[in-house]
Amino acid sequence: MEKTLAVNAGSSSLKWQLYEMPEEKVIAKGIFERIGLAQSMSTVKFNGEDHKREIDIVDHRQAVLLLMDELIHFHLISEFREITGIGHRVVAGGELFKDSVLIDKNVLDQIKSISNLAPLHNPANAAGIEAFMKLLPDATAVAVFDTAFHTSMPEKAYRYPIPNKYYRNYSVRKYGAHGTSHMYVSREAAKYFDKPLEDLKIITAHIGNGASITAVDGGKSVDTSMGFTPLGGVMMGTRSGEMDPSVIPFLLENDPDLNSAQEVIDMFNNQSGIRGVSELSSDMRDLEKSRDAGDANSILAYEMFVDRLKKYISQYFGVLNGADALVFTAGIGENDRKVREDVVNGLSWFGMEINPERNYRGVVGEISTADSKVKVLVIPTDEELVIARDVEKFK
Ligand code: ADP
Repeated sequence: MEKTLAVNAGSSSLKWQLYEMPEEKVIAKGIFERIGLAQSMSTVKFNGEDHKREIDIVDHRQAVLLLMDELIHFHLISEFREITGIGHRVVAGGELFKDSVLIDKNVLDQIKSISNLAPLHNPANAAGIEAFMKLLPDATAVAVFDTAFHTSMPEKAYRYPIPNKYYRNYSVRKYGAHGTSHMYVSREAAKYFDKPLEDLKIITAHIGNGASITAVDGGKSVDTSMGFTPLGGVMMGTRSGEMDPSVIPFLLENDPDLNSAQEVIDMFNNQSGIRGVSELSSDMRDLEKSRDAGDANSILAYEMFVDRLKKYISQYFGVLNGADALVFTAGIGENDRKVREDVVNGLSWFGMEINPERNYRGVVGEISTADSKVKVLVIPTDEELVIARDVEKFK
């Protein structure tokens, strides 16, 4: 039986999902958390059960060794050789990678060479790749890039209006993120409508802890809200989204606690968004509880969150000159009726009308009325499946 692992190595975590391919059956999934920190944790899920344990994990290499041990221990594989494919999510592919690639030493070096585009993520992705290369040298190893889907953006969309030399010399441009998710849900939407993707204009809203909106024209990303890094675009769980860059030197001059541009950026990335404004939590479920209890900061954070979503979605109606569908996905997009309702009702001028009963029931598929000119869909994303499928292409 052929098995494929989809691996997503973050700065201090490693998420994995084990598939039986080509059947696309999920055998098990899990996560190593707090790698390199105190109280590291491993969770393995299969057959509806969670197996958690606390265990010291110093680095990604050790996490990979532990993962293989656990797969054997839980009889999810009987020998290492059963894993014939490994797909690695890589956050930044820069301008080098327009599609998924078979990993060799050269590709690994290239992934490392563009680490400046994702300083927390690419080194972790590379560490995960190297660990598996040593342990499973014969498996088909494929890198799947979060930025690849967005490499179809036209230059007018991806360039920043600053002197050309910064693009030429330093590759400063918009790269976007969440590409596998935007690609997957736009293709699923075309299947849902039973229409060729080439004939559709779709706005995809991936709204989780990280969030981005993409304009998809004929199956190609033509603009997306995240920028040079995932800090751009809409307000998120802990990220500010779009900011006027003049705030950076202003804060450095005025706040004695902020001592470098990097510290300001870290604050925009980790202490901002829903967390920064609510002063309570970065999590939407927590925010809604405190909002409903009447907490003023939480009410404001929620209103700002919806406002930023509306602004980016309406921009993309402009970019596409009209759209056939708006697709909601990821943790908030898939589960939060109120956010969907507030966004769609606030954009009714564009010809969208929500079906409150379908929206409330949380159906997968259409949540707009029969008369709605722009269809509104909820489609659960599945980035791991995209990764596992891409591995199959190289076998
Ligand atoms: P990540 O970017 O970490 O992958 P997810 O896509 O898992 O994030 O989304 C996490 C967000 O989804 C959190 O803000 C969480 O509160 C929210 N969320 C998950 N389930 C629900 C739900 N049932 N109702 C509202 N929000 C939800």
